[in-house]
Amino acid sequence: MSSSGMAGITPEIKAYLESTRLVLPQSYDKKFQDLTNLIYQVPIEYLNMVSKAYETNAEIQIVYSDSLKSEAVTVGGKNHIIHDRYLGQALSMLNRLFLYGASNHTKIIYAHKINSQILSRYGFYEEAIFSAQCYQDLRNEMDHKEKQEEDGTLVHAKYIHIQEIFILLHEHSHLVFKKKDQNYNEIRDDVNEWLRSYIKTEQSTKELYSTLVSDKSIPEEERKFIEENLESLINNSNIKADFIKDIMNRDKLLEEFCCDRLAIVHLLPYINQSSLSSEEAIKAIIICFLHLRSIQLAEIRCSLENEKNFERRKNEIDLEENLYATFYHARLHHIKDFCYQFLIGNDDDIQIVHEDVSNIMSDHSDDILTPIQNVLSTLLYDPGHREEMKRSLQYIQDNMPSGQYDKRVVSAILHSVPSSEE
Ligand SMILES: [Zn+2]
Repeated sequence: MSSSGMAGITPEIKAYLESTRLVLPQSYDKKFQDLTNLIYQVPIEYLNMVSKAYETNAEIQIVYSDSLKSEAVTVGGKNHIIHDRYLGQALSMLNRLFLYGASNHTKIIYAHKINSQILSRYGFYEEAIFSAQCYQDLRNEMDHKEKQEEDGTLVHAKYIHIQEIFILLHEHSHLVFKKKDQNYNEIRDDVNEWLRSYIKTEQSTKELYSTLVSDKSIPEEERKFIEENLESLINNSNIKADFIKDIMNRDKLLEEFCCDRLAIVHLLPYINQSSLSSEEAIKAIIICFLHLRSIQLAEIRCSLENEKNFERRKNEIDLEENLYATFYHARLHHIKDFCYQFLIGNDDDIQIVHEDVSNIMSDHSDDILTPIQNVLSTLLYDPGHREEMKRSLQYIQDNMPSGQYDKRVVSAILHSVPSSEE
């Protein structure tokens, strides 16, 4: 029933992949395929079991492409989950950077790799080639291997199993919900109820700003910032609350929350048979979602920045970008609350995990999200490296054999020295 690696791909899926992604060269290597099959044997068996129970007949295809995503699609009347092994590798690497405390320099080097891959997909070749080159030139300076050795727990590898199964289960839930049956209605009602209470917390944040202005106990600098920006802070908060209300009427967005929820339900038997405690599993899921959010916010910035000419580009936060950020923020809190309720239940124990999870959320923002965003803004908006960028693109275009694409050049730079661990 299951198949993985490029060899097991049907002609319809092959055509679909060719029109939507750039399949990376290693995928055609026999050794690479064997390793893929080995790595994904357990997740695929688990997914097949769930798929059988729901009669979704999903075929799982493991590919290796530049897309950094996992998706459920129906092609030729058949349900498929197309999961990118490169996404798994990226998440595993982000786990290592985050969990073992890699240096900021290391995080920035890796942020070049992630951004380069995304930029090339959106047609920003100057930036992508420059960034790929930065990654190639500096990758030997990365300290994550030493940090991992010092730590010695290999916790990133334990987490990645849960994380990839969570992603696969989320995608599978889209196939389950295609039927829009009773099951979907019940979960949707629960999500709507959660969203209503979440809006209330957003509204109380609004009131909080107004009281903070007159609160003498908070640092002068912070108080001043709130005072000066009170109007826009409240305005922002209103837009967010309106948008969350809107989610309840938008089936596609609502379905993402429902899929997160059903994925966690289906993850429970897997957690119970694994060596991870519920608390560790929750941390793994939250970290996974934080990694995905960091990647997706970079994707959104690239998809919204459609000005290819640097001279005309403006570094402005788009309203739409803000709404995506709100959407991911709400999903993060929903996943967190549901995990607490479903996997722990006891209030005292929740309190203990909650402290760890809150720290993870704020650390992740500093350690992973910020370097990725900073590198991307520098690449897109900083005039500093422009001349160099233009020169390298020109050189490549002048020397490229005809029939080659800029996109392939980026992936050749990024992946020409394949390492078993990245
Ligand atoms: Zn989804």
